[in-house]
Amino acid sequence: MPDGDSEVISETNSAKMNLRNRKSWQILSCAAVFAYSTLLVYQTFSGGAPAQEVLAEVKLSAKTYRLERNLAEDRSSVENDIHELTSEVVPTTATVKPPLTTLDDVFISVKTTKNYHTKRLPIILKTWFQLARKQIWFFTDTDDREFQTKTNGHMINTNCSSSHSRKALCCKMSVEFDTFLKTDKKWFCHFDDDNYVNVPRLVRFLGDYNFRDEWYLGKPSIQAPLEIIKKEKKVLKKIKFWFATGGAGFCLSRALALRMMPVASEGRFISTGERIRLPDDVTMGYIIEHLLKQPLTVVDQFHSHLEPMKFIRRDTIEDQISFSYAKSKDEWNVVKIDGFDESEDQYRFLSLHCFLFPYFSFCPGRR
Ligand code: UDP
Ligand code: MN
Repeated sequence: MPDGDSEVISETNSAKMNLRNRKSWQILSCAAVFAYSTLLVYQTFSGGAPAQEVLAEVKLSAKTYRLERNLAEDRSSVENDIHELTSEVVPTTATVKPPLTTLDDVFISVKTTKNYHTKRLPIILKTWFQLARKQIWFFTDTDDREFQTKTNGHMINTNCSSSHSRKALCCKMSVEFDTFLKTDKKWFCHFDDDNYVNVPRLVRFLGDYNFRDEWYLGKPSIQAPLEIIKKEKKVLKKIKFWFATGGAGFCLSRALALRMMPVASEGRFISTGERIRLPDDVTMGYIIEHLLKQPLTVVDQFHSHLEPMKFIRRDTIEDQISFSYAKSKDEWNVVKIDGFDESEDQYRFLSLHCFLFPYFSFCPGRR
């Protein structure tokens, strides 16, 4: 047979082969797509294995076939098919892990007043302030050069009145909130100046939540939601809501703070508080739970002096986020913990701090 003929035959043969290859490829592609669709339908109704796993199998078999046949020209069309399929199977129920939270993601505000600077701030400055010197800010009602130096410029004069009145407290909270909004922090955590905060525990705790979702985290001090009578469109209405006690500390995610802006930012926290005539922490609960319908998430590890501190078990101390102290009827309500003598450590914060962070220079064994 002449060479030319054999070429023609081999060309014809190779054309036939190509045609066969192409056909079998098309059949296999169709089969893969069909198999995948069937699986999708099956999954939809059976709630079976995650669609992504199935897709991986389809991808794998398509890939193996492609390698065997080396049909490069069909690659893009298969990939298009797979791409289309992939874009169809975005899982809707996957739980997304919250982004990593570090100390620098948290804005910590401490409410204080001029009469308490010398009484309450020194113990904070000696202990937990040292663990978050850049993140803690003190909100007060006067200029105090001594403490401005001691806090590295972290005293903020709110110019609110220095009284325990509802209006003065709402005024301070309003400045705390607005100051947080001006930062790029993910979390706003408020505490009183008679709190001890286990800073690393607070940061770890916030790590379980996503700041992009709306979170109101704290602890109520009453057994049932607060009930108030409110005038709405000239009609008296009974409303109920929970609030986190300010004296135990509470945290708000940035997403929640942003949604609160129309009723709480740029001084509006004060006017909202005025409308219901209740203290700052109650106003916070009213705004979040009642106006924004975002429920409080109860966090047992926050503690105010409205609960007996002595009931906090020693073996759970490391897990707690905040503590407090108070004197009622000649008796101190303080954390029960060994350590410094009472004459040196009335509030037990030094002992608590050394229990949690024994490497501090003033702790026993380090002196
Ligand atoms: N506080 C204030 N102005 C005052 C009295 C108190 O800003 O005139 C602050 C104080 O620094 C603390 C919080 O309000 O952070 C609660 O004060 P305190 O512990 O004296 O009273 P409590 O409400 O806990 O009984
Ligand atoms: Mn207090």
